[in-house]
Amino acid sequence: MPEHTIYAVKYAGPFNVYGGYLVWQWDMATTGFEWENWYLWCIRGGADTVVIDTGADPELTRRRKKSPLFENPVDVLARVGVEAAAVKHVVLTHMHWDHVGGVHLFPQATFYMQEAEFRFWTQDPLAARPPFANLTDNASLEYLAGLEGTERLVLLNGDREILPGIECLSAPGHTPGLQAVAVDTALGRAIVGSDAAHVFRNYDEDWPSAFSMDLAGCLRTYEKLRTIASSTDLIFPGHDVLMYDDYPLVAEGVTQLV
Ligand SMILES: [Zn+2]
Repeated sequence: MPEHTIYAVKYAGPFNVYGGYLVWQWDMATTGFEWENWYLWCIRGGADTVVIDTGADPELTRRRKKSPLFENPVDVLARVGVEAAAVKHVVLTHMHWDHVGGVHLFPQATFYMQEAEFRFWTQDPLAARPPFANLTDNASLEYLAGLEGTERLVLLNGDREILPGIECLSAPGHTPGLQAVAVDTALGRAIVGSDAAHVFRNYDEDWPSAFSMDLAGCLRTYEKLRTIASSTDLIFPGHDVLMYDDYPLVAEGVTQLV
């Protein structure tokens, strides 16, 4: 059984956000702020490097975030010897622009995502309405839609091991078809949860982010991920600054989670 290493690759942040956004209806009436980073993740130890999410296109980030605190995900990956243009496997957790806006940066990759997520964002008229449309970008949706029917886009229906010791897990709640990724490591089974939860505190307190399409779905997903992970310490959220601040730095922007 391969024992993989998991890296958090920070490409943007830290950004200031309302506390009530990271934790559902928490301190909504106050002006309390919290911090978040934006990440992709990288798994090594098997035959091929696997990247989870793509980060966003740098030009898109520049236009949408009025902040200089971002980098090209390609440059951050290069610091740990990963050449984005040569990566063969990319798992897409969900179709928010900060997670899939950089799909074109991985021109050789096969993308793995849940079919429910793909169908919602590319075909459901609801996805074009303001609260959803605001979270996507058309360029990456069109890029992925153009791959449908080719070997570069694998649409999953539920849990599936895609490579030895790397399993995609259906984990809806934040979005209709979000998937987490279970990874066999030296410490046991770890889970890259992406935005199934925004911060560790969501899991610790059993209290999802306000940024949830389906609150009940989020809680069911938490139960599932806790059952599968070898330890609750091995379930990683999508945006917590602690993934950068509390883990060993292996290169500028990159920490080793497991
Ligand atoms: Zn998201």
